[in-house]
Amino acid sequence: MAAHQEKKLAQERKHKSSQNDTQTSQVQWGRAWEVDWFSLASILFLLLFAPLIVYYFIMSCDQYQCSLTDPLRDLLTGNKHLSDIWNKTPTLTYRAAGICSLWVAFQVVLYVFVPDFCHKFLPGYVGGVQEGAVTPAGVVNKYEINGLQAWIITHVLWFANAYYFHFFSPTIIFDNWIPLLWCANILGYAVSTFAMIKGYFFPTNAKDCKFTGNFFYDYMMGIEFNPRIGRWFDFKLFFNGRPGIVAWTLINLSYAAKQQELYGQVTNSMILVNVLQGIYVLDFFWNEAWYLKTIDICHDHFGWYLGWGDCVWLPYLYTLQGLYLVYHPVQLGTANAVGVLMLGLIGYYIFRVTNHQKDLFRRTDGNCRIWGKKPEYIECSYMSVDGTKYYSKLMTSGFWGWARHFNYTGDLLGSLAYCLACGFAHILPYFYIIYMTILLTHRCIRDEHRCSSKYGKDWKHYTAAVPYRLLPGVF
Ligand code: NDP
Repeated sequence: MAAHQEKKLAQERKHKSSQNDTQTSQVQWGRAWEVDWFSLASILFLLLFAPLIVYYFIMSCDQYQCSLTDPLRDLLTGNKHLSDIWNKTPTLTYRAAGICSLWVAFQVVLYVFVPDFCHKFLPGYVGGVQEGAVTPAGVVNKYEINGLQAWIITHVLWFANAYYFHFFSPTIIFDNWIPLLWCANILGYAVSTFAMIKGYFFPTNAKDCKFTGNFFYDYMMGIEFNPRIGRWFDFKLFFNGRPGIVAWTLINLSYAAKQQELYGQVTNSMILVNVLQGIYVLDFFWNEAWYLKTIDICHDHFGWYLGWGDCVWLPYLYTLQGLYLVYHPVQLGTANAVGVLMLGLIGYYIFRVTNHQKDLFRRTDGNCRIWGKKPEYIECSYMSVDGTKYYSKLMTSGFWGWARHFNYTGDLLGSLAYCLACGFAHILPYFYIIYMTILLTHRCIRDEHRCSSKYGKDWKHYTAAVPYRLLPGVF
């Protein structure tokens, strides 16, 4: 019954949207209402193969010293059968289930029950209760921004254990990596399935739900925009920004501890990966309030893509460099190490400054200085589903005058640095830069499609003023 009402509501909105479309051609805003065959095929492919891809990468390190080709060669030559590989794969264990449950429960407690204290003493840090962007239904959600605090508490406890209490070994994550993979998958599927059922039967905000009528698309891309339990437990902020990302730096530390245990030293490449990715993670938490205005929170609905992706894809595939370095402890020459560090820092600088410029520009409504000058911009307007007209601005100066997504370019340079730290013996550590290039190029196109629908002719003026997406003069 509830599902029927939601669908009817969605159809009415769709009708209203298309009516408005003909009036202004600037209304279709948010995730697609209709599913083309290409999107459907991609979604089915990902639903079927993404978990296998993750398994393949982790298994190839566990059984083949991180070679991606050797398992295939073994299978194709008949040297091994699938069952041989599968039988050698560690299974789900009670220990892993306990670690995973404790981990998620601890992060829930830090997220829901420990209000932010950091903003009271850290100058420049924006924490505590903050507002998100206007949703397509015109809602402005409030969020408790306490991710930095959660990260700090978790890491202080980690180091206290490693150097003082010794309750568990700092290699615990590496030692249980495959059993934990099964737990992460169970969590990812459970959360996504719950989000789907919740979207049908008890959505947090019915007006911000989208039903395409295609089960697989809705499962993958999500129905609810901002599913919540109670006033503060926001699924998107929690799963995007807590169990996986807080774990990212701990996973890397666990790999470093494993190197120490196996070889009696931690290589400079492992230190570089820990430091550069650590900066990226800390930046994420320092800027968590800003993150409320990024695509994941502002535009994506919560489905398998975010739910499973944050529980499995992110912690397992974003940390491949550290895992690789446990099996191949690369010690870089000084010049190479400095080169990797510089590339990582330059990438990070571009990423941060570009994001900061947009944030400052939007927060001050253009009343700020970018590179010492008043910013240039294009005025634009759009409508929410209830027909209310809003005004906005697209900046055309600073890094935003160089390319329309120069923040992605910085991110890609940083990502390349992590990979280069691992040397050139295997392709596996380069998965990250290949994946990020595909992800961010696709994101560019997806975002521009959405912005074009949202801003109509104003978007055309903007793309004429800033013609390139990622690299000025190239793309
Ligand atoms: P952006 O921060 O670039 O946000 C895009 C939005 O910004 C647009 O939808 C539009 O929103 C607004 N916008 C676009 N152009 C302008 C302009 N010229 N002036 C003002 N506002 C503009 O994208 P993301 O949210 O995707 O990325 C944020 C960061 O996160 C990036 O640096 C990215 O590299 C990183 N990232 C990292 C990922 C990872 O897995 N490591 C994954 C995804 C992102 P509006 O509707 O408000 O106009």
